[in-house]
Amino acid sequence: KLHNTILELKGNIRVFCRVRPFLFDEVVSTETKVVSFPTSPDTIGRGIDLTQNGQTHCFSYDKVFTSEASQDDVFVEISQLVQSALDGYKVCIFAYGQTGSGKTYTMMGKPGIADQKGLIPRSLEQVFETRQTLQLQGWKYDMQVSMLEIYNETIRDLLSPNRPNSDVSRIDNMGKQYAIKHDANGNTHVSDLTIVDVRSSKEVSYLLDRAAQSRSVGKTQMNEESSRSHFVFTLRISGVNESTDQQVQGVLNLIDLAGSERLSKSGATGDRLKETQAINKSLSSLSDVIFALGKKDEHVPFRNSKLTYLLQPCLGGDSKTLMFVNVSPDPSSVGESLCSLRFASRVN
Ligand code: ADP
Ligand code: MG
Repeated sequence: KLHNTILELKGNIRVFCRVRPFLFDEVVSTETKVVSFPTSPDTIGRGIDLTQNGQTHCFSYDKVFTSEASQDDVFVEISQLVQSALDGYKVCIFAYGQTGSGKTYTMMGKPGIADQKGLIPRSLEQVFETRQTLQLQGWKYDMQVSMLEIYNETIRDLLSPNRPNSDVSRIDNMGKQYAIKHDANGNTHVSDLTIVDVRSSKEVSYLLDRAAQSRSVGKTQMNEESSRSHFVFTLRISGVNESTDQQVQGVLNLIDLAGSERLSKSGATGDRLKETQAINKSLSSLSDVIFALGKKDEHVPFRNSKLTYLLQPCLGGDSKTLMFVNVSPDPSSVGESLCSLRFASRVN
């Protein structure tokens, strides 16, 4: 009985943890190993232990991927969730963690290397493949893509015909509000946001490249802004079955969050301070929202940040949410890793 109650409370929110391997320039030493995985039958595959200053902290999640897990191993565990967007569910998959912990690797992977493709390209391939199969059963699907970035609580359109981070489009986009509105059917509209009809995963990868270019312009001009902003990829799926007249409307949101590292408040001034405050605000709002949803609170503080307000219809109700908490194995990151694991425990 108690067990059931716990499952009910957890609702449709899942947390997966992924530890990335050491990078070539990180010194691997067994003496300073800070991350380990318990092997007892009740926690295997779900537990992670982190040791800081001789003290070991134990965590467990719905799933833990060690640094040996391949992109394929990870995708196998989420393909059902992606599938449910075609069945009409609203799905959100987040990657949370400090800069350098593997968020972008998990979401996008390494471009051009097939077995290192991340879950965004894999999800799209699966969606378009499944669409073909479902066509044989009378289903007809329309798919639309939008990609945006939230930086300093401001939305930027990554598919705008002008590069959103260039000076030209700064001026061009000045009059644009990107105002968020939700209609009675739970559909979200962002004014002025570019929405593109797509028919194949190739078309979407072309758009992803374009979005990545828009982001990297900002990277050189604006001090690695891409790790200071949230990237939100949205695929809207509307399906109708021509023989049964059934209709479905699903949404797949894939979100590469801003780096969660705590920036020293004392040193930060001006733009940097504003950035830090914006990131802290949106990440803590996200945690508050997921926490409130998990507890089935009446009041869920969606409006406290752009990110949670934008995703409101896709976070509550019968939607499905998965959070990846990405962790670096490097001893120098142990403090941040502990913060990330604690964050993830709160929402789990
Ligand atoms: P983040 O987006 O969180 O800042 P990245 O995804 O850019 O971090 O990862 C940092 C570095 O680690 C990159 O060079 C990336 O290719 C590498 N990396 C991350 N996760 C893995 C992994 N699971 N396997 C191999 N390399 C990884
Ligand atoms: Mg990144």
